[in-house]
Parts: sequence; C-alpha cells; structure tokens
Amino acid sequence: MRPNTMKALEKSEPREGLWMVQAPVPEIGPDEVLIRIRTTGICGTDIHIWNWDDWASHTVPCPMITGHEFAGEIVELGKDVAGLAIGQRCSGEGHLIGTDSRQSRAGKFHLDPGTRGIGVNEQGAFAQYLKLPAFNVIPLPDDIPDDIGAILDPLGNAVHTALSFDLLGEDVLITGAGPIGIMAAAVARHAGARNVVITDINPDRLALAGHVVPSLRTVNPAQEDLQDVIRDLGLKQGFDVGLEMSGSQIALDQMVEAMVMGGRIALLGIPPGKSPVDWSRIVFKAITIKGVYGREMFETWYKMIAMLQNGLDVSRVITHRFDADDFARGFAAMKSGQSGKVVLNWS
Ligand code: ZN
Repeated sequence: MRPNTMKALEKSEPREGLWMVQAPVPEIGPDEVLIRIRTTGICGTDIHIWNWDDWASHTVPCPMITGHEFAGEIVELGKDVAGLAIGQRCSGEGHLIGTDSRQSRAGKFHLDPGTRGIGVNEQGAFAQYLKLPAFNVIPLPDDIPDDIGAILDPLGNAVHTALSFDLLGEDVLITGAGPIGIMAAAVARHAGARNVVITDINPDRLALAGHVVPSLRTVNPAQEDLQDVIRDLGLKQGFDVGLEMSGSQIALDQMVEAMVMGGRIALLGIPPGKSPVDWSRIVFKAITIKGVYGREMFETWYKMIAMLQNGLDVSRVITHRFDADDFARGFAAMKSGQSGKVVLNWS
C-alpha cells in the first residue's frame, strides 16, 4: 500500500535550519525505483545546507529534501527496470549522471560534467521514501548491515582517494582525521600500506582515529613535527603517498614537505577559497597531484563492498545514532566537532 505523503527533512526556507515536513511520496518513472529509507548518514554537505552558507545558498534550490547517504529497501519498480526486485536491500550512488558526454560514453560515469546530486540539486534521501534511477542502485549483500549501507557514500570517497595510487608496502600520510580521513586510513591499512600516519589539530578526532584503526600513528602537528615522526618511523626520506582530506593549506604544505622525491598526492579536501600553493616545491620534488571527485561508478562501489566482505572494518566510525525525529540532536553532534559519522533511523 503506497501512502500519499511521507516525512521528509527539508530546506523549506532560505535561512539556517532544516524542517521535518510532510511531502508527497515521489512518483517513479519507467527506469526508476522507489526505495523505503531505513537509515541515513549526515554529511558535511548537509551541515553546509543547514547553515545556509555561501555555497549552499548559491547551489541548492528551495524547497529541497536534503540527504544523500542512505540504506533502504526497494518497494516499487519502474516498468522498464530489470535485474532488481521488490524487497531488495540497497544503498545507491547519489550522483545522477547523463549519458551523452564523452566521459559517460567512455564508461567514466563519475566524470560526467552534467552530474546532479540528490539532496543538493534533486530531492534527497532524508525522507521515508526516495526515488532513484535503477542504474544508481547498489544492492546490499546480507552481511553488510544498514548502518554501514548508510555510510557507503563517504566510505566510497575514502576508498576512491586511498586507491588512487598503489599502497602495497608504501608509507602513507593522511592529513585530516574527519570520518573520511579515518576511513581512508582503515582502507590504506587494509590495502597493505607499511606505515599509515594521520594528522589533525583536533585531539578528539585523533582519538577517534586511533579507536577506529588501532594500528594507526596519530599526530597533532601543533605539538609534534612531522620530520620527527619520519625519523621515529625510520623512513629514509618521507612518505610515498599523501591523502589530503582536510582542505587546509597548512596541512597541504606540511604534506608536500614530508613527501619523498616523486611522491604522489591525492586531494579530496576542499580549501575554503583560493589558497596559495608553493608550486616550485612541488615541481622540484617531482610530485604527482590528483584531484578526486565522488566515487568511480561503479568500480569504487565494487571494491568497497569486496573489502567490507574480506575484513575491512569501519563500524566504529559511527559514533551517534538517533531517530529521524531527533535530527536536531544529530546535527548538533556533527557541529560539535566531537563526532564521527552520525546516522538517523527512519524505520
Ligand atoms: Zn556525503
């Protein structure tokens, strides 16, 4: 029995805050499915939308149901959908892509320039029901619980960034111990890195990093010099691979300084504005830099589910769980800077 309306967490007015409203249950097209949402994750993007900062007010139309990190169950299939079934547990890729661009036609869907995001440009997942193209659905195996299903989107950012370069036997530096940085550290460990060092100036985040990935070396660069860490670890020159997850100019400078000649850096952190970079240092160190966006469709999803099934454990990065009606407490936990991932339960 399909209800006509549903609870949804919406940006209803162009100002700070989000509101729980009654919204129509979406009608699906022939290539889409309707998903009953069970669990969602709150992302930094949702905090920007809550705060209605410069980026959000210029990007997000109003009204908009927010949210893009979810796990749920398929309850309706469009008439042309094949290969999926009612009752299938799933997560999904929240980037909706076109099929005409050169990149899409080459199978590089995550590089399609016309990408639109659910919860940003299209109605999102913080609701009892979500409409999604069948193409974007990721079926969840039975051994992946809803909590983890709800954070596959940010885990995918971590996996995409961490697997940008071969990590087997390498020494890896990660700057920024937010949930994605911490999950990237878990992935680097899992992928066979020798030393994994993570930096942050927030001691709570470093403590959480050590709790999620016990074999990690955590460093507060305000108290400890990375050059001393390099010496302690017995590294001859520095780190082979850097994963920049903070968006901090200071962190990037410290990373470049701590890399080996010919080192490789993947950038996921977004600096707040234009920031000066010492390019000559990067040239003379022959450093490769790669910008990372989203998740590869669907190679990143394949790899991350495979790794979760062969022992990758990021479950402790989830520090708070609330009922959806208690969303304000979830957002407060996120804004406190003392949380890992915060998930909301919709069932
Ligand atoms: Zn997200």
